Amino acid sequence: MDYDYLIVGSGLFGATFAHLASKAGKRCLVIEKRAQLGGNVYCEKIEGINVHKYGAHIFHTSNRMIWDFVNGIVPFNRYTNSPIADFKGERYNLPFNMNTFNQMWGVRTPAEAKAKIEEQKAKALSDMVGQGIVEPQNLEQQALLLVGHDIYEKLIKEYTEKQWGRSCQDLPAFIIKRLPVRFVYDNNYFNDLYQGIPIGGYNKLIEGLLDGVKCVTGTDYFTSEYKDWRRFAGKLVYSGPIDEFYDFRFGRLDWRSVTFKTRVEDTANFQGNAVVNYTSHEQPYTRVIEHKHFEMFGPDVYKCRKTVVSEEYSTEFKAGMEPFYTINDDRNMELYARYKALADNETDVFFGGRLAEYKYYDMAPVIERAMEIWRDLQ
Ligand code: FAD
Ligand code: UDP
Repeated sequence: MDYDYLIVGSGLFGATFAHLASKAGKRCLVIEKRAQLGGNVYCEKIEGINVHKYGAHIFHTSNRMIWDFVNGIVPFNRYTNSPIADFKGERYNLPFNMNTFNQMWGVRTPAEAKAKIEEQKAKALSDMVGQGIVEPQNLEQQALLLVGHDIYEKLIKEYTEKQWGRSCQDLPAFIIKRLPVRFVYDNNYFNDLYQGIPIGGYNKLIEGLLDGVKCVTGTDYFTSEYKDWRRFAGKLVYSGPIDEFYDFRFGRLDWRSVTFKTRVEDTANFQGNAVVNYTSHEQPYTRVIEHKHFEMFGPDVYKCRKTVVSEEYSTEFKAGMEPFYTINDDRNMELYARYKALADNETDVFFGGRLAEYKYYDMAPVIERAMEIWRDLQ
């Protein structure tokens, strides 16, 4: 046997696990079905700009240990996510904060903004009480209670319908709960202590994690000799889809996907911000990403004379697409539980990451999860 661990998938989960295990002297082999390493954080260089091929990725965490760990691999820049929302040409700052309230209603003080939201909330609350509802039952009710009618109509309703492909009345309330509402003039999208982008791009992070680890790309576990993994390694660490591992025997898990239309614009600065959300149905896409703004600031934006932009189209997952977002409805959660029961019974196979755990993981928690699984193996 040549290896201690055969690791399926070179995303942040597989790469972190491989890094920790090989640092501890274990022999690791990473196999990756895509042509390149890095999973969804992979970037392609176009016109000297790192283009986030599988969707815009902004690293954020309040966990000092994780922040130190990634910065130990590659230092991070000072990018702070502050998206702009465009509703039929009207522009608003996100997340919902004093700038948004000022743009929406002309209010200037937190007291004025609170009074306006309270007035709108009171109406939503009395409608709910009238129907005998105590807790918000769906995303629409949750949003109306959080920010009131005007913000819901202009900044939430149609964006959410585009993103999830269904009505806000048919979506769970929790999706919207994590969006901050602030009575200060603060456009920072995240509440976390630390955020940024690796200097030089995410590929540097993956290269650093996988430095010295043997990796094979363009190799699908299921159709390669590695499927017979015991011939190669003592243990298998699997970060592909869990239903596929068990040959879809109970049925397929559902996903939402995103498709990207990426183009080069012959201008140095196309939209003046990395992220612009289009919150009405007027545009079929949800967001437009201008990739250079993740890594170029101030006058540096103009040193690179062209720019690369991507429109993001949220869509139902079909064969051949990338599985991106889990669907947390009853059918899928029950189906996942059945697969997980099988996984829990394995002795030398370890499942981790967003595909294997059927979980919407941000990057920092996925790294933490790989550390946890590695620690439990000691
Ligand atoms: P992945 O990155 O998907 O890696 C899994 C790898 O396994 C893939 O490379 C895949 O090709 C490979 N694989 C699968 N099956 C096989 C097989 N049979 N054989 C060989 N290889 C296989 N997180 C943030 O913190 N901030 C963000 O701003 C953010 N934005 C996001 C935007 C989008 C559109 C999406 C989808 C996710 C975003 N995330 C963000 C989440 C982030 O992408 C994940 O936390 C992270 O990529 C998970 O890493 P992973 O290794 O679990 O999965
Ligand atoms: N959302 C919205 N308008 C926006 C941005 C977000 O209504 O301009 C809602 C939408 O329902 C989305 C949820 O907030 O699904 C969470 O958004 P976030 O940007 O945190 O999620 P991501 O798209 O990164 O998963």
